[in-house]
Amino acid sequence: MKLKLIEIKEEAKGTKSFFWEPEKTVNYIAGQYFYFTLPSLKYPDPRGATRHFTLSSSPTEGNLLRNTTRIREESGYKKTLNELTVGSIIEGEGPNGTFLLDESEKGPFVFLAGGIGITPFRSMMKFATDKKLPIPIRLIYSNSVPEEIAFRKEIEELGKANPNIKVNMTISKPEESKEKWEGLTGRIDEVLIRKLVADVSVPIFMVSGPPAMVDAVEQVLGKLGLPAGRVRSEKFTGY
Ligand SMILES: Cc1cc2nc3c(=O)[nH]c(=O)nc-3n(C[C@H](O)[C@H](O)[C@H](O)COP(=O)(O)OP(=O)(O)OC[C@H]3O[C@@H](n4cnc5c(N)ncnc54)[C@H](O)[C@@H]3O)c2cc1C
Repeated sequence: MKLKLIEIKEEAKGTKSFFWEPEKTVNYIAGQYFYFTLPSLKYPDPRGATRHFTLSSSPTEGNLLRNTTRIREESGYKKTLNELTVGSIIEGEGPNGTFLLDESEKGPFVFLAGGIGITPFRSMMKFATDKKLPIPIRLIYSNSVPEEIAFRKEIEELGKANPNIKVNMTISKPEESKEKWEGLTGRIDEVLIRKLVADVSVPIFMVSGPPAMVDAVEQVLGKLGLPAGRVRSEKFTGY
């Protein structure tokens, strides 16, 4: 289906959201993704003109679809996307995916996000908040530096607006930042999870991020001795 670009918004250093008006209403579940195909590439890219991106918007936010990505100079696709003007038309296909949160879920959940892996969780937390779902959620969100925390303000506000959402952000390279970081530091590891989650045998853990991050966190979760079926993962293949 055709998608018309309505707005581009900066979310963090190097990270942008793109808002699209679909030619017909899209019924999707929070956490699902879309294929986005550019009509032509302004800069060459060996991976071609199509990528999959999670819809960072929530189904409760109206008709517009939103995707969020880190713009990298090495990617001809992303450089082309970043230079599209409002009103541009591209091709979209979806929704797809089974990494999701719908109204039937009870939780509790622990969301573990690495960098841009926050996109499905932004959608799910917004959905749960707008729908006033009684689902306990703890987000543990890891970034290298505070400047790279996408949706920072919005997530902090969701944590305040929704008593069921707890937010923990951790920074792995605070020494590389200009901002003085007084919160948690280090990557998501066993010590951090045990510190934040009182009884690890209770929640469902959802992990999202680049493949290396997801593999590392799955290994950590493997050591916790969780009951079967308590881990759901989304690997952002291509990173
Ligand atoms: C289900 C699913 C959902 C996804 N959702 C999202 C999403 O919401 N947002 C999103 O951004 N992506 C998402 N992705 C990944 C997305 O589809 C792209 O594959 C990814 O963004 C990489 O894009 P790119 O190929 O343009 O390369 P880029 O990573 O932008 O970079 C281009 C080149 O640089 C190289 N490179 C990448 N990282 C580094 C680095 N740190 N140092 C040096 N070189 C590097 C790469 O190998 C590549 O050749 C998702 C993937 C899946 C499977």
